[in-house]
Amino acid sequence: MSIRRRIWLFEGAVLTVLALFFGALFWAFLSYQQLIDENRDAIGLMIESQQVMLALKDTETARTVFFEKPDSRSLSAYDDARGNLLDTIAHIEAYAPGDRDNSEEGKTIGMIAAGRLARMDKDVEFTKAHRPSRQMAEIATKMHAIDRLQTETAIGALVANHQIHTDQIWTLLDRAGHWVLNFIVLGGAFIILTSLIAIVVSMRYVMRPILALATGLDTISQNESPKEIAVPEGDELGLVAGAFNRLTGHLRDAEARREATEEKLTRANKELVARNAEVIARTRSIDLLGRVAYRLPGCSNIKEFSSLVESFVPQLFPNIPGALYVFSDSRTVLTEVAQWGEPKGDTAEFSPENCWGLRRGQAHEIDNVAADVVCDHVRRDAVLGYRCLPLVAQSETVGLLYLERTNESVPWAIEAQDLRVLSETIALALVNLRLRESLREQSIRDPLTGLFNRRFLQEALELLQARVDRTDLSIGAIMIDIDHFKDFNDEYGHDAGDVVLKNLSDLMRRHVRASDIICRFGGEEFLVVMPGATLARAAECAEDLRKSAAEMQIIHNGITLKQITISLGVALIPDHASDVKDLLDAADQALYVAKNGGRNRIETGVPVPNRPHATNLLEMPAPEAETTDGAASTSLFGR
Ligand code: GH3
Ligand code: MG
Ligand code: MG
Repeated sequence: MSIRRRIWLFEGAVLTVLALFFGALFWAFLSYQQLIDENRDAIGLMIESQQVMLALKDTETARTVFFEKPDSRSLSAYDDARGNLLDTIAHIEAYAPGDRDNSEEGKTIGMIAAGRLARMDKDVEFTKAHRPSRQMAEIATKMHAIDRLQTETAIGALVANHQIHTDQIWTLLDRAGHWVLNFIVLGGAFIILTSLIAIVVSMRYVMRPILALATGLDTISQNESPKEIAVPEGDELGLVAGAFNRLTGHLRDAEARREATEEKLTRANKELVARNAEVIARTRSIDLLGRVAYRLPGCSNIKEFSSLVESFVPQLFPNIPGALYVFSDSRTVLTEVAQWGEPKGDTAEFSPENCWGLRRGQAHEIDNVAADVVCDHVRRDAVLGYRCLPLVAQSETVGLLYLERTNESVPWAIEAQDLRVLSETIALALVNLRLRESLREQSIRDPLTGLFNRRFLQEALELLQARVDRTDLSIGAIMIDIDHFKDFNDEYGHDAGDVVLKNLSDLMRRHVRASDIICRFGGEEFLVVMPGATLARAAECAEDLRKSAAEMQIIHNGITLKQITISLGVALIPDHASDVKDLLDAADQALYVAKNGGRNRIETGVPVPNRPHATNLLEMPAPEAETTDGAASTSLFGR
């Protein structure tokens, strides 16, 4: 049933009950009113009849007085009483209430009273005319007494009837009052009950579904998961609930789709965040690797190279200690040139044979030293795992990158690609560094003897000149020339001459200090520059060289070569020159003197200012290297 119809029914029922109630109440009121009216008529009639009775009594009294004393005054009194009686009779006869019986009875009483008055008038007329005797008057009075009694009885009977009727009406009124009271109480109770029932029913059938709807809508508005509303179908709320339930169904579907999408988005976001972190880490790694690749080739020596590696590798692989090894020139030993993170399993030097990585020419990766073969150069008891990566560039293994794991709590987070790129970068930079060092060495050293060439000498002398200008540094110079070397070459051949040159170079290296500079000045001419030397030490060194050279025994191709001698010229700043250019001139002059003096001897320069001007030796062309064999040994690590 529709709510509209239901409301109409409820309202109709309530209105009907109310209408019946008020109708009954109105009917009761009318009945009550009617009873009151009836009662009022009866009482009015009784009052009117009382008036008549009193007027009769007065008239009777006046008649009796006139009988006893028939004068004008008594007559006048009788006339007054009579007039009064006539008025009451006229009044009662005219009495016409709603009740017809009452008016009829009024007329009857009027008629009885009028009859009685007529008889009294008759006696009065008789008395006026005949003046009856006392006896007659008494007889007439007695007769009137009887007449009066009859009249009063007749009227009294009528009034008595009314009295009974009035009593009945009062009883009825009393009952009706009780009945109306009960009706009001019961009817009111009934109306309240009906209203309550209507409220309960409307609550049950109208308010409850509305509340359910409201709750459901509220749930949606609060973004909670909407539930179906249990409202019976068949009315407007049922339709709304059905629509609402369909809507919540759509909402639930949409919510499910939204949740699924949200989950997907969350997953995607997590992946994105992870990817982003990965990308950031990769970007950082790439950036670091880029910087490594950019910086390493710029290193001018192995020291710079090592400190760069020590700075960058821990950034790339945080908390992973390690070391960088490079091959020695002889390629028999790997030397640790850099380390980071305080590695515990490394050794300062080891043979390539001791490394599985180098032996196999590929990375040796050990995650658990207890369960795998461990390289001999690694301290097995100090590490949990390690990596040995041979550094290979341009098909040449130049070193080894060593990484170790000593702490289980530190993740072994090594990105294989980063490690590969790093090792390749280091290897390539190492090869380049070696190449550059080699080239540099070649550019400043004489290839036959490995001694510094004149180009280097010039640079070194410029630096020394700057020091001389700033300080009072003394510099010694020994100019050396092999005696009759042309003859030697002619006798033994050029190769033998080269061997002699090499042996003499080695001898000189052994006999001078590390701070001294030995230079191949010309074909078979050498120069030793001795910063800070005294003339005595320079002369002593020269003598030492002369003697040693003369004692040198060289066997070449199974032939013991003839011993050589050398001539030497010694000069010193400040004794024989004030600048480096003059120093070389002075030493050369002294050599010249030694040659002329018979060779295999030492001469000292001419003290300033007696020394004659000499040629600028530094501006002389450098000697052509006569052999290219036995290139000077070049080393990254110095000698
Ligand atoms: P002196 O005692 O006057 O110095 O006589 P000398 O023969 O040594 O001097 P000279 O200047 O006439 O000859 C120098 C020789 O040194 C000529 C050359 O064959 C030789 N010589 C120069 N450079 C080399 C070299 O690189 N290897 C060889 N084997 N010989 C060289
Ligand atoms: Mg010579
Ligand atoms: Mg010479």
